[in-house]
Amino acid sequence: MITMEAATPTQAAIRALDALIRPPPDRVRLMCPVCQASGRIRVDPARVRSMASAGGGVMQLQVQAGEICDHAFTVHVDAHLCARCAYQ
Ligand SMILES: [Zn+2]
Repeated sequence: MITMEAATPTQAAIRALDALIRPPPDRVRLMCPVCQASGRIRVDPARVRSMASAGGGVMQLQVQAGEICDHAFTVHVDAHLCARCAYQ
């Protein structure tokens, strides 16, 4: 007799599979440190994946004037695509 436990994968297993199959996000939500305008910019998914598989770290993104607002600024983003800090 097969129990429900054996027949259905656990939530943890589903999440682990999902993380493997689903591509990493390729957009990061940022806020301008000058005018607080927020927007999303594209990042290279391969860069995010290699950073995540390396166990963390941050990458530096240059935001050009006109991408989110009229300001150009630099932001540090971690492997979960959380903006750590932004400066002009
Ligand atoms: Zn701005």
